[in-house]
Amino acid sequence: MSERRVRVRFAPSPTGPLHIGGVRTALYNYLFARQHGGDLIFRIEDTDSGRFVPGAEEYIIESFRWLGIKFDEGVSFGGDHGPYRQSERRDIYKKYVKQLLDAGRAYIAFDTPEELDAKRKEVENFQYDATTRMQMRNSLTLPAEEVKRMMDEGCQYVVRFKIEPGREVLVNDMIRGEVRINSSILDDKVLYKSADGLPTYHLANIVDDHLMEVSHVIRGEEWLPSAPLHVLLYEAFEWTDSMPRFAHLPLLLKPVGNGKLSKRDGDKLGFPVFPLEWHDPKSGEVSSGYREKGYLPQAVVNFLALLGWNPGNDHSELLSMDELIQLFDLSKCSRNGARFDYIKAAWFNHQYLIQQPDEAWVPEFDRLLQANNIQSTPEKEAEVVRMMKLKVIEYTDSEGNKKKRNVSFVSDLWPLTRFFFVAPNEFDREDKFIRKNWKETTAQEIRSFMEVLQRVEDFSVEGQKAIVDPWVEQSGLRPWNAWRICLVGAGQGPDMYELSAFLGKEETLRRMQFAIDTLG
Ligand code: GLU
Repeated sequence: MSERRVRVRFAPSPTGPLHIGGVRTALYNYLFARQHGGDLIFRIEDTDSGRFVPGAEEYIIESFRWLGIKFDEGVSFGGDHGPYRQSERRDIYKKYVKQLLDAGRAYIAFDTPEELDAKRKEVENFQYDATTRMQMRNSLTLPAEEVKRMMDEGCQYVVRFKIEPGREVLVNDMIRGEVRINSSILDDKVLYKSADGLPTYHLANIVDDHLMEVSHVIRGEEWLPSAPLHVLLYEAFEWTDSMPRFAHLPLLLKPVGNGKLSKRDGDKLGFPVFPLEWHDPKSGEVSSGYREKGYLPQAVVNFLALLGWNPGNDHSELLSMDELIQLFDLSKCSRNGARFDYIKAAWFNHQYLIQQPDEAWVPEFDRLLQANNIQSTPEKEAEVVRMMKLKVIEYTDSEGNKKKRNVSFVSDLWPLTRFFFVAPNEFDREDKFIRKNWKETTAQEIRSFMEVLQRVEDFSVEGQKAIVDPWVEQSGLRPWNAWRICLVGAGQGPDMYELSAFLGKEETLRRMQFAIDTLG
């Protein structure tokens, strides 16, 4: 077979914000397209008008813009195979529905919802298929004139796909291998509804993949059950030769327990399942997004890429988009669900965050400080970032255990850096560090230390050291922990000289005097 141009598509339905699993699907399509010098198409599958949500399409486009996933064609991007919004392709689908009807591969059915319900009550596990279709009201059971009359009178109908029973259907999946099922288990799916003049997902999806010359269908595992039907549709249209290759990606699983990752898991454990914050237009509910949580797009791309695929042990886990494009291997994706690890996601963000210059943290850090009523300068803020970005913070995990992790978001810097801007105004006498390091003699020692610092004219780290170090040597005192209590109020923070240099002589001495006065 001659090499076919790689053309893949991401085809969301605009029914709400894009789930992070959908983002991974789009990313894999993007990596695959770029790797093969092919095209990535953005198609909107909006034939189910009842589920349309305003703003969803714009949200999806904005998400990919933020993540750096670029499309070559499609809604808002243009291209030669448009329109790319299915609701604008009605006439195209009608032609193909007619083709199936004319070829006897589909039929018209008039059964009303009430009639179908009645049948479901009557027959256990009722399915509209070869075993039951002759008991129903359709163009196979009604005389042709009757069918014509009903259509002329405007009776509502659907077009159903006529599935031939007892056939083995083969889905050749690039990830799952050969999946075989018997056609007898499939039902005669509705392909078109006269009520809205629109096809259903299955028909529109196949017709569009064909007309848009899609070479590979890379999508979530939840679509695998539809694949045999899709194979049969290609056959019915006599398009088997140009049928795309399928690749069904593994599910994203909950961080703990069994089942698919859901928004509830995110809410419970405090991580987003959407790329951007989403404001539900109906309920007004706000769902958090990776962008607003302080994730960098490169970090999101990197950790998502590794959910269901990995480049093997010879490679670092930290991979840029270009490296991902080079290394990605669709056929090596896992068949098993990929467990969503939000602690790992934070780790990735830490890695990308610390690669950035300190100045890059400043705008968000400044917003954080302002939200806490603190005014500072970009220089001072960058200085604090430099001193604190490699610290660890404590957090409580889903089981309520206290754990530690790296600073992974700019927002982690608060309250970690509060003392740079706000002097301690009280001391927790129960605090272990304070009890251990503030003793009977400490106030006197700090007083002598203050006298030494008074003499320091150049209050830089070097300037202080030049005077303080000889004094420490000679006096044999070790004032560091007590000094930390004075300036920080607790057993944390950066190098003490760096902190005192940052605070300046006056503020440093002021805090020392306050500690002596308060702790005695
Ligand atoms: N519209 C489907 C979705 O929402 C597309 C499935 C497919 O890629 O075939 O994911």
